Amino acid sequence: MTTARARSPLAFLDAEIEELREKGLYRRLRVVQSEQRSRCTIDGREVITLSSNNYLGLNTHTKLRSAAIAAVEQYGAGSGAVRTIAGTMSLHEELEARLASFKHTEAVLTFQSGFTANTGVIPILAAEGAVIVSDALNHASIIDGIRLTKAERKVFPHADMEALRTTLREVRGADGGADRTILVITDGVFSMDGDIARLPQIVEAAEEADAIVMVDDAHASGVLGRNGRGTVDHFDLHGRVHVQVGTLSKAIGVLGGYVAGPAALRTVLEHRARPFLFSTSHPPAVAAACLAAIDVLESEPELIERLWDNARYFKAGLERLGFNTGASETPITPVIVGAGALAHRFSDRLFEEGVFAMGIGFPTVPEEKSRVRTIVTAEHSREELDICLDAFDRVGRELTIV
Ligand code: PMP
Repeated sequence: MTTARARSPLAFLDAEIEELREKGLYRRLRVVQSEQRSRCTIDGREVITLSSNNYLGLNTHTKLRSAAIAAVEQYGAGSGAVRTIAGTMSLHEELEARLASFKHTEAVLTFQSGFTANTGVIPILAAEGAVIVSDALNHASIIDGIRLTKAERKVFPHADMEALRTTLREVRGADGGADRTILVITDGVFSMDGDIARLPQIVEAAEEADAIVMVDDAHASGVLGRNGRGTVDHFDLHGRVHVQVGTLSKAIGVLGGYVAGPAALRTVLEHRARPFLFSTSHPPAVAAACLAAIDVLESEPELIERLWDNARYFKAGLERLGFNTGASETPITPVIVGAGALAHRFSDRLFEEGVFAMGIGFPTVPEEKSRVRTIVTAEHSREELDICLDAFDRVGRELTIV
């Protein structure tokens, strides 16, 4: 006879929640109840948001809205299948051709998200026996992509070019090292710190070691380079970075990810990349809105200028107030405060003062580098940025952060 178990087999979940509460890390999801503009309604309160990746304001741009609506009218709401069965629509192919010419690469393949682009492409590039050399601060989707491979992993300290060169020489110099595939992966812009990868040095080191270079330009797409073409264009490294991952979910204002590179890479991904093979493709409205976004990047470069003007203004303001903004060089500006509980308290108090800036702690960043992360957009007015700076000043003093 079996005896009834006193506890649910899911009781560990309650214990985990309790632990989050004890550490001051328990969060409820904030709910956005309006359009995502610089001012929006979140949890019933009108706030200025500094937490959206909508860098250029494209997710509410008239051209994107109209394109999405027209695509729904013409093609319907969904795509009905994975790409390799009946889910490849003319809009997907048009978007990929357009992205390839925008990025100056032979080919592009789109994925459902930047996350699945990374988890899809990395196992293709690094089979068993290969070595992946990855920056310590690379995004979680790169880390997960690496975990899906049987390749050897070597993580170098963030942005440490000497460590990268040493690692590459050691791998090549070891027994049997001459023939191994080596894949070097870096974020283009690091998502939590806002610094830019030292891509020219990474490319030089990789060329010396005959390694593949892959850059994840999620936060550089639409932000860096001519018309937002990304870090490869920013550093004028066309033809020297083998694989570029981009996202359509941030500055492009919609949803999706893509891999830009040689035509042969696209062909192999079409046959082997698991998120591409086994998960349904984008609805037509998504592809159509992304196409409209590329039109906007090409025809309204002033949006990117405004983004950078705002970024410089806000960053200088935070630094003048005495905040630690780390190594940021882009519109992502962290305000590093130390403990995770303090970062969340800071964020909560800012929210009460009408500013939404998310607190970020472990495991996204090390506990002692917990922060409130800010992202300004092209849509913020100077007046809104001043209101935000005032709130940071008031709350920062109240919590003795400055
Ligand atoms: N790579 C990096 C560097 C990112 O910051 C993100 C988004 N957090 C992603 C990939 C994932 O992109 P997406 O949101 O399109 O899945």
